[in-house]
Amino acid sequence: MKIHEYQAKSILASYNIPTPTGRLAQTIDDVRRIAEEIGKPVVIKAQVYAGGRGKAGGIKFASSPVDAVKIATSMLDRTLITHQTSSAGTIVRKVLIEEAVPIVGEIYISIVIDTSKRLPVIMTSSAGGMDIEDIAENSPEKIIMAYVDPAVGFQPYIGRKLAYGIGLSGDLIKEFGAIIAALFKLFMENDCSLAEINPLAVTKDGRLIALDAKLNFDDNALFRHDSIRNLHDPEQDDQFEKIASELGIKNYVKLDGNIGCAVNGAGLAMAALDMIKYAGGRAANFLDIGTVNNPQILINAFKIFMSDPNVKSILINIFGGMARADIIARGIIDAYKQIDIKVPVVIRLAGTNALEGKQMLMQAGINYIDATDFYDAAIKAVSAANN
Ligand code: GDP
Ligand code: MN
Repeated sequence: MKIHEYQAKSILASYNIPTPTGRLAQTIDDVRRIAEEIGKPVVIKAQVYAGGRGKAGGIKFASSPVDAVKIATSMLDRTLITHQTSSAGTIVRKVLIEEAVPIVGEIYISIVIDTSKRLPVIMTSSAGGMDIEDIAENSPEKIIMAYVDPAVGFQPYIGRKLAYGIGLSGDLIKEFGAIIAALFKLFMENDCSLAEINPLAVTKDGRLIALDAKLNFDDNALFRHDSIRNLHDPEQDDQFEKIASELGIKNYVKLDGNIGCAVNGAGLAMAALDMIKYAGGRAANFLDIGTVNNPQILINAFKIFMSDPNVKSILINIFGGMARADIIARGIIDAYKQIDIKVPVVIRLAGTNALEGKQMLMQAGINYIDATDFYDAAIKAVSAANN
């Protein structure tokens, strides 16, 4: 689960990590009032569940309250498109108004779980303010990492090692160590999947302050963090993921491609994404319909596909085990009756009752493309999407 920057900053502050003075505004009146209260030049920051706002016009400086109002008017209730949003962008309903801090340097800090090492890893860089992906590609030597064994816990030497690694000196070493220690504690105590400060700025008067903050949380641990779960902003949810959850489909993730796919089983569904890619295409979504013997889920899946203008072909890939292919076929036939399906549909049925399922599809006279196996299905779906 993601939260907004202003919420992440308030959690950071509760762990004694320095953040700028600022308040959240939802209306132009709020903006004027807050900018007047701060009484200094401010930064207006679009609150969306995506980074890359700086380059996309979602972070702007205002020298006066009048200026702040002008800028906020051009942001509030508008769509912001950054390289991290979908091409449709995301709506800005809130802006954070903060004092503009004069800075001389930008540091990158993040903590994630390295799943191959099965350990939390702290990454830092003196090249903050930039995307970490760019640093990793262009100057990987500028990323300094440290793994933390949870059985041993965070040790102060880790903070010092990272501080020296990114070239800090003097009082900043101690200050930086304290921030790393606090962020690590925050990460562990709240079951974060990501804790990122980019940039942690070095101010003109030699202090460190978190100018940006991003916290993501492990969904499977949210049951023990009610206060965090309540921070979720449904307005920032992907519109198709919202439709899916309203239709009772839990395992749907929106992707950037143009092939809608419905698959039974998470493993097979992931393999389908790979197979589509291998065949030269890109999936519009991940969707595991699960082991269900209920035709309704197919109808719902087709509803989502048809609401997504990116979908140019559909791939139904079923390997019946406990789920029966004839019941899936019933769902597909019902979907054709209820929904105007405007794009080619490729169907691969295998496993339990596959023959019965195929017979039903033929007898129903629906217009679809039959696939003999998994790879054949992917190739046909890709070529159908491109025609
Ligand atoms: P992001 O682009 O979504 O990551 O948004 P950030 O909050 O990181 O802002 C982008 C950039 O704006 C930062 O890397 C800073 O360079 C700059 N910035 C943001 N807030 C301030 C501030 O208070 N003072 C100064 N000088 N720069 C800021
Ligand atoms: Mn940032």
